[in-house]
Amino acid sequence: MTCDHDHHFINGRRERTHSADRISVINPATEEQFASIADGDASDVDAAVTAAAEAGEKWAARTPAERAGYLRGLADAFEARSDEMSALVTRQNGTPISISRAMQSQVPVAYRYFASLADDLETEKLVETASGDAVLRREPVGVVGAITPWNGPQPLIAWKLGPALAAGCTAVIKPAPETSLDALVFAEILDAAGIPDGVVNIVTGGRETGAALVSHPGVHKVAFTGSTVAGKAIAAECGRQLKHVTLELGGKSAGILLDDVDLDAFTPLVMSACAPNTGQTCRALTRVLAPSSRYDEIVEMLGATLSAIPQGDPTDPANFFGPLVNATQRDRVESYIELGRTEGAEVVIGGGRPEKLDRGYYVEPTIFRNVTNDMRIAREEIFGPVLVVMPYDTIDEAIAIANDSDYGLGGGVFSPDRDRATEVARRIVTGSVGVNTSTLPIETPFGGLKNSGIGRELGPQSLDAYLEYKTIFRGR
Ligand code: NAD
Repeated sequence: MTCDHDHHFINGRRERTHSADRISVINPATEEQFASIADGDASDVDAAVTAAAEAGEKWAARTPAERAGYLRGLADAFEARSDEMSALVTRQNGTPISISRAMQSQVPVAYRYFASLADDLETEKLVETASGDAVLRREPVGVVGAITPWNGPQPLIAWKLGPALAAGCTAVIKPAPETSLDALVFAEILDAAGIPDGVVNIVTGGRETGAALVSHPGVHKVAFTGSTVAGKAIAAECGRQLKHVTLELGGKSAGILLDDVDLDAFTPLVMSACAPNTGQTCRALTRVLAPSSRYDEIVEMLGATLSAIPQGDPTDPANFFGPLVNATQRDRVESYIELGRTEGAEVVIGGGRPEKLDRGYYVEPTIFRNVTNDMRIAREEIFGPVLVVMPYDTIDEAIAIANDSDYGLGGGVFSPDRDRATEVARRIVTGSVGVNTSTLPIETPFGGLKNSGIGRELGPQSLDAYLEYKTIFRGR
């Protein structure tokens, strides 16, 4: 029996959808449908945007400290349902439960961090000018349309909603169709936290629902995380209407192992840095650059490490690789593995489906060697547990390979010599680079260059995207 949802969350209430269309929710570990959601239409989106607009003035008039109080309440209410959320996310997208729990535990941390930014927000200051003085105000941009993907659904909502609410904006969230059930639970969390009606609204649906939100004239800013293809279409529409937009898109990030890399220190980081969430993470270091002098040793270490990671039922906390999110994603990953073989790269481990798992969208972790940077498997985002390992002879060559990419989202440099690694990191053309770590801090900005997007989330800078400057200049 499936659990069918025919409602959105609008103006603090469950509102029955106007749409007759439904989208199936399938457990990727069993390939069984267990729920359906409403495929919201333009009138659902319009009702949500109207509610957000009507709630806007009152929300913006609250002091930043009051808004911070609501965000802390939201963090507490989320925490109370964190375990339920983790299980639900895993059931929908196949994220191994241990990883899902770690991801959900970051959500209240994020809301509390954005509360602290609200505490520090200076909404008005006096500036002396040559002709008098000016009242410089920072005002919320208005209604935000937040569109999220399935791979990290709740953290990626928090990264948008946190700064939006802190800044005084109201919002309409359009979650990915694969992970909308957790968004509907989040609606109950918003209610439990006492977030005023209309301040946050949630409309479920697919691409058309997202497109209706982007093109709605009542939306003043779009915050999007997802694929580069969708991001470009969204940017075009936002350009046409001249609305604010931030885009967190795909990646093909390089992890550079310097010639003095300590493999005992790097090995425990391999999964989280190179193939987190079964490789379905935008900033994964899927291009590993190894010094030629140590190439074989590094390829061997990567193969041994990834093949030792248990893969299977994502509800079992012992498994750290699960299935891919859906059949389309598995087809895509398998087609890239086939392409890699055709391009002349050599499979070191994996390359197929795990033998013992005959149900679920599983693909084995796969490593390619003998890869050159002009191959499509080295240039295109695969979004699965597939690594390419390329040799380099000099640091300049490593940096040139890293930078010869259409993307610029993440990166990593690994060496016991932090200063040397940092010097290399400075030369990588990308939005963020980890030195000897894969842990992304929330206190610093995150985002991409080139096809990886525009704008930044996280850090104090995240508020900028949700605020306008307004100058009241006064004569003497
Ligand atoms: P997707 O672009 O297909 O969908 C993402 C969201 O956008 C979904 O809610 C979808 O319904 C909606 N959408 C799709 N097309 C749209 C359109 N034209 N207008 C409005 N909304 C639209 O991406 P996905 O397959 O769900 O997620 C995987 C992609 O997300 C990968 O490319 C990955 O790299 C990227 N991603 C990026 C980051 C980051 O921070 N840079 C984080 C996670 C995922």
